[in-house]
Amino acid sequence: MKEPKNSTFPLPLSSVTGAADRKREGYAPARVATPQTATRNAVHTPYVAPKASAAPSKSHSDALQRSQPAAPAAPRPDLMVSDAIRRAMVLRVAKQGVQDRVVLGALETVPRHAFIEPALSAQAYIDASLPIGHNQTISQPYIVARMIEVMRNDGPLQRVLEIGTGCGYQAAVLSCVAREVYSIERIKPLHELAKANLRPLRIANLRLHYGDGMLGLPQVAPFDGIILAAAGLEVPRALLEQLAIGGRLVAPVGAQVQHLQLITRTGKAEWMSETLEGCHFVPLRPGTV
Ligand code: SAH
Repeated sequence: MKEPKNSTFPLPLSSVTGAADRKREGYAPARVATPQTATRNAVHTPYVAPKASAAPSKSHSDALQRSQPAAPAAPRPDLMVSDAIRRAMVLRVAKQGVQDRVVLGALETVPRHAFIEPALSAQAYIDASLPIGHNQTISQPYIVARMIEVMRNDGPLQRVLEIGTGCGYQAAVLSCVAREVYSIERIKPLHELAKANLRPLRIANLRLHYGDGMLGLPQVAPFDGIILAAAGLEVPRALLEQLAIGGRLVAPVGAQVQHLQLITRTGKAEWMSETLEGCHFVPLRPGTV
């Protein structure tokens, strides 16, 4: 994991929400997490796919298992193929540097092809973002895993908020690593799409909301972890306020050039900010449509 850059801690809220990071002396854009650079950054310890018993949370894999149709008499070759391809995707994500086994286990559990329109499902397990309609995308598996790894920091997560449900894929992955997950989407048809995609998986610990995620969910706050799946020029103040003390927020920040930012709430009025690797996300927008 990279060292934080040029950070003076703790920071007042104004410096976390403002453009202070972009103006810091010596600030240089970090590398962008494209599949290529991420592969160059790879750690050399191979990830060995966990056995079924290493699944992150029992209740969770139960939830996902319940969603499967009644066990067929004979093995389903189509499902076996997608399992093998998904395992290969997880191995690639691990090679790109994601080390958290709980996150890798979650990635192995969630059927990414179920979140992608049939015409594109052959590409479901390549490490790329793909269109989901309304000018939005399903995020690249590496970045989904990386953000959750950074947010988790090897600790258990109780309540987590995602801004930007999109097709619902990352929300499903989050539901494998946290006790309660809330996800907000501002585009009504995508909120409906996520509901439809997630329904067959019957994930009991996930709640979808239609609304402006920049406002967060004050009625449910505080959250131990918040992930933004869309990039703003700064992290909305409401979200910083809804982070529990000790909680961690991970967000892409920037316009043309974006970086992942990790913000940790260290006190009632204190937040710490670290700039991590480069990334590329769709924009965070206010309001609902
Ligand atoms: N989480 C997704 C990625 C979704 S793409 C995945 O699983 O791959 C980002 C999403 O953020 C888009 O659907 C976009 O509509 C949504 N978004 C942008 N601004 C938002 C806001 N203010 N509140 C809620 N959702 C927002």
